[in-house]
Amino acid sequence: MEKLRKIILSEKEMPTKWYNILADMPNKPMPPLHPVTRQPIGPEDLAAVFPMELIKQEVSMERYIDIPDEVISLYHTYRPSPLFRAVELEKVLGTKSKIYYKYEGGNYSGSHKANTAIPQAYYNKQEGVRRITTETGAGQWGSAMSFACNHFGLELLVFMVKVSYNQKPGRKLLMNAYGARVVPSPSTMTNAGRHVLELDPDSPGSLGIAISEAMEVAVQDPYTKYSLGSVLNHVILHQTIVGEEALIQMEKTGDYPDVVIGCFGGGSNFSGIAFPFLRENLLKGKKTRFMTVEPASCPKLTKGKFMYDFGDSAGMTPLLPMYTLGHNFIPEKIHAGGLRYHGAGVLVSQLLKDGFIEAKAKMQRECFEGGVLFAKAEGILPAPESTYAIAAALDEARRADLEGVSKTILFNLSGHGHFDISAYEKFFEGNLPDHEMTAAEVEKAISEIEFPAAN
Ligand SMILES: *Cc1c(COP(=O)(O)O)cnc(C)c1O
Repeated sequence: MEKLRKIILSEKEMPTKWYNILADMPNKPMPPLHPVTRQPIGPEDLAAVFPMELIKQEVSMERYIDIPDEVISLYHTYRPSPLFRAVELEKVLGTKSKIYYKYEGGNYSGSHKANTAIPQAYYNKQEGVRRITTETGAGQWGSAMSFACNHFGLELLVFMVKVSYNQKPGRKLLMNAYGARVVPSPSTMTNAGRHVLELDPDSPGSLGIAISEAMEVAVQDPYTKYSLGSVLNHVILHQTIVGEEALIQMEKTGDYPDVVIGCFGGGSNFSGIAFPFLRENLLKGKKTRFMTVEPASCPKLTKGKFMYDFGDSAGMTPLLPMYTLGHNFIPEKIHAGGLRYHGAGVLVSQLLKDGFIEAKAKMQRECFEGGVLFAKAEGILPAPESTYAIAAALDEARRADLEGVSKTILFNLSGHGHFDISAYEKFFEGNLPDHEMTAAEVEKAISEIEFPAAN
C-alpha cells in the first residue's frame, strides 16, 4: 500500500468539542487546597485570578465541552494541523516501525500553546477583563498569548524567565510585535521578584518565580486577570483538540498507535495528544502506551515526589497534589526552557501514579542529536522541547527493531525551533552540557519546602 505522508483534515472535519478526562478517570485527583487555610478551595477562591468560565472548566466533570464559535473560527486559521508519517526518518533509521507525528508548530506562535491562548483570551474578554498578566519560559506561551490578547483587545504583561529572555531575544521581539509588554523575571516590579533578587541578584529565574510575579500583579486590580500556559485542567482541556484530530487522522491511515509520546513541561502538549487516545483505552479496551519525556535536569515525574505543593515559588497558588521537585527548585539552564518547571499537572500526576502512563528522563545532548537527525530527514527544525519526544520515539523504534517487531509510534511535535538557533549553535560547537539531577539533590530540594502553618 502507498504510504500516506501527510494527512490533512478539512475545516469541517475539525472536532468541535474538547475532551475532559476527569469524567473518565477511575481515581479522581485530590482537591486543590487553599494556600493558607489548607482547606479544599471552591470556585470563588479562584475568581480573583481567572474568569468564571475557565474556573468552571477547571472543575467540570462533563466529558465533552463545546468549543465556542469564535474560538473555532480562529482555530480555523491554522487548524486542523497536519499529521505526518515520518517516511524519510524511518528510512534513515532503517526501522520496520511506522513513525507518525502531529505538527503543532505551524501556527503563528510556533507551538501548541496557541490552542489554549485563544480560548483563554476569549473567555477573559467575554467577562470584561481588560488586562492579562502571565509568565513565559522559552517564550512560546508569551507569543501565543500576545497575539490572542491583541486579537480580542486585551493588554498583556509578560514576565519572561530571565535566562530565556537573554537566550532568546527574538521571542521577546515577537511578543512586542503583537503588542505585549515583556519584563525579565525576577524583576523589581513585584515583592516576589525583589525577594528573589535580594537572595540572589544573578538568579536565572524560573517559571515558578515568574508565575508568582504575574499573579501578584493580577490580584491587585479587579480588571486584570492571570493566565497560565500549562499544568491546569482547563489548559489541558483546550489542548485535547490535538489528540481528537489525531484520532481521526490515524483512522485515515489505517494504523493505530501502539505508543503515544509527548515531551513534558507541565503536561499540556503530552495530555493534549494523549488523552483522547487514553479515553479509547479506558472506554474501549484499546492498549496504547503513553510516554512522557522530561529533562534529566528537571525530573519531577521520574524522581520527584507525589505530594501537595505550590505551583509557584512564592506560594500564592493553591496547593496541588502533584509530582514535584519542590516549588523553590531552580532547574539548570538547559535550552528546553519550556520544560524547566518544578511540578506537573494534577491530571497527569494522578494518571502516572495510577499506572496509566509512563515517564522517562533524558539529557539534552541526546535529544539535540535526535532533533538534528529529524530535521535532516523531515525538514522541520524542532523546538528544543520537542526534541525530547523525538529522542523517545527513536528509542521506541530501535527497541522494536531489536525485538524484531513493527510498532506504530505517534508523537507530538509540539513546536518549531526557529527562535532556538543559538541553542543548536551550542550543540554544533560541542558546548551543550549534560546535566542530571541526582536522587540526593531531589531529596534536598524537596526537604527545603516550607509550607505555611495550617490553621
Ligand atoms: C511550552 C512548551 C512545551 C512544554 O509545556 P507542556 O505544557 O508540557 O506541553 C513543550 N514544547 C513546546 C514547543 C512548548 O512551547
